[in-house]
Amino acid sequence: MDYVYGPGRNHLFVPGPVNIPEPVIRAMNRNNEDYRSPAIPAMTKTLLEDVKKIFKTTTGTPFMIPTTGTGAWESALTNTLSPGDRIVSFLIGQFSLLWIDQQQRLKFNVDVVESDWGQGANLDILAEKLAADHTHTIKAICIVHNETATGVTNNLSRVRKLLDHYGHPALLLVDGVSSICALDFRMDEWGVDVALTGSQKALSLPTGIGLVCASAKALEASKSAKSVRVFFDWNDYLKFYKLGTFWPYTPSIQLLYGLRAALDLIFEEGLDNVISRHSRLGKATRLAVEAWGLKNCTQKEEWFSDTVTAVLVPPYIDSTEIVRSAWKRYNLSLGLGLNKVAGKVFRIGHLGNLNELQLLGCLAGVEMILKDVGYPVKLGSGVAAACAYLQNNIPMIPSRI
Ligand code: PLP
Repeated sequence: MDYVYGPGRNHLFVPGPVNIPEPVIRAMNRNNEDYRSPAIPAMTKTLLEDVKKIFKTTTGTPFMIPTTGTGAWESALTNTLSPGDRIVSFLIGQFSLLWIDQQQRLKFNVDVVESDWGQGANLDILAEKLAADHTHTIKAICIVHNETATGVTNNLSRVRKLLDHYGHPALLLVDGVSSICALDFRMDEWGVDVALTGSQKALSLPTGIGLVCASAKALEASKSAKSVRVFFDWNDYLKFYKLGTFWPYTPSIQLLYGLRAALDLIFEEGLDNVISRHSRLGKATRLAVEAWGLKNCTQKEEWFSDTVTAVLVPPYIDSTEIVRSAWKRYNLSLGLGLNKVAGKVFRIGHLGNLNELQLLGCLAGVEMILKDVGYPVKLGSGVAAACAYLQNNIPMIPSRI
């Protein structure tokens, strides 16, 4: 079906792909260029330096791969591991499930640690496994920082502390697809060996760049990793980095200009301010959910996500109907419940280039749709709760002070 236009703007509140800001759209509206001219390598060089800042690393080596988050996963795994390697991986929702499926299809020996959907990774079990692994059979820990299906954020600094406590050399591979550039993420400080994200999430770009960053230890591991890789081979990139031409194959010129504009916007606001803004958006959303008398799918406060909130609906309501009708009636796009939580939750994505008043529009829409489907919500209750908090907490816009 062709794009079905509705009046006004679509309120895009799925947890990715997210809204693309106007300056980024304009920056991408351009002709192709010869990527072997001096201009593109020069721009690539500064992009690689700046990409390191969003991972909070000075020592990592970034790769900007024409792919999605799924390709970034494959790049992280195949460059650092060999078939048969034992890896510990946490299953807490649809995206960790899909990553585990990929790990199994790539023939790793996956030691799955499963939790209820709505809970974080079970790090007590990780501690037990590390303590028992005297011969260091575990080659990597794979963890999704923010499970987008349930709105659960895992505690990465605790994972690093456990690895250090047991003196365990396993690599730490982190999916930061719905966290990096929105949640507190510190590659160097937390000793993350491979971190990755996709351009369509908090960077607010179109889909199409998988950003992967490797520690020195991960690069070293890639020298002996035996997994077959061709398109994703870091070595091909490194050869061209040395030559100063940077690209083993044709990059999307438009996406590179878009990435430049997206990073400029993030740095103008300040990465830490961007993270604080997400924390306000997350808190305001949770206050609204509470005011509606509904429950967060995430079972404990320590796991609450500031980029996505999965809202549980009462059993007599089908959350799929909420999402469908929100789009049809209010031009509001919410996230569906996926797999185990299909029909039981709808998701409000609050990540990327988004401000508080946009979020209030979404919350107002959710209230109306809840009433439409027969949930006894008091109109204005969630919006009022969010406003009361936001009015006291929104700072001046950094670029306008
Ligand atoms: N990891 C997480 C946490 C995600 O939320 C997603 C997609 O939403 C992916 C991985 C997969 O990314 P992609 O759809 O870009 O391949």
